[in-house]
Amino acid sequence: MAENDRMSSLKNCKKCNRVFSSVDGATLCSRCNDDVDDEFNRVREYIYDNPASSVKDVSNGTNVSSESILKWIREGRIVLGDHANISFCERCEAPIEGGRFCARCVRELADGLKSGIGEKEEHKHKAGMHIKDQDRKK
Ligand SMILES: [Zn+2]
Ligand SMILES: [Zn+2]
Repeated sequence: MAENDRMSSLKNCKKCNRVFSSVDGATLCSRCNDDVDDEFNRVREYIYDNPASSVKDVSNGTNVSSESILKWIREGRIVLGDHANISFCERCEAPIEGGRFCARCVRELADGLKSGIGEKEEHKHKAGMHIKDQDRKK
C-alpha cells in the first residue's frame, strides 16, 4: 500500500492493449516487455555473431520483425559496426542494404531526372486518360 508511488499510472500496453500499471512512462506491460527484451537479446547476439548481416538476415535468423530491429537501430539500442550491412535511404529512410537510396527512390529519382519534373509526366498520363467524345460511337 505504501508502494503507491508517484511514477506509476494505468496505461494500455502498446502491444497487447492490456491495461497495466506503467512505471517511469513504460509503454509495454511487463509481459510484453519481457518478450521484447528476449527479442532484443536474440537480435543483439545474432548481430554480434554475424556483424555483416542485413536487416532481413537478422529478422530471418531471430524471428524478430524487421520493424523492431530497425526501431532499435534508430533508437541507438543496436549499434552497427563498421561492417554492418544495414543503412537507411537518404530520401525516405527505408532500410537498404548499402548505397544511399532504396530501390524505389532510385527509380523515382531516375524517373524524375528523365522527365525533368515528375509532375509533368503525371499530367500527360491524365490527359491520355481523358474520355473524348465517346458518344460519337452512336
Ligand atoms: Zn502487453
Ligand atoms: Zn527511399
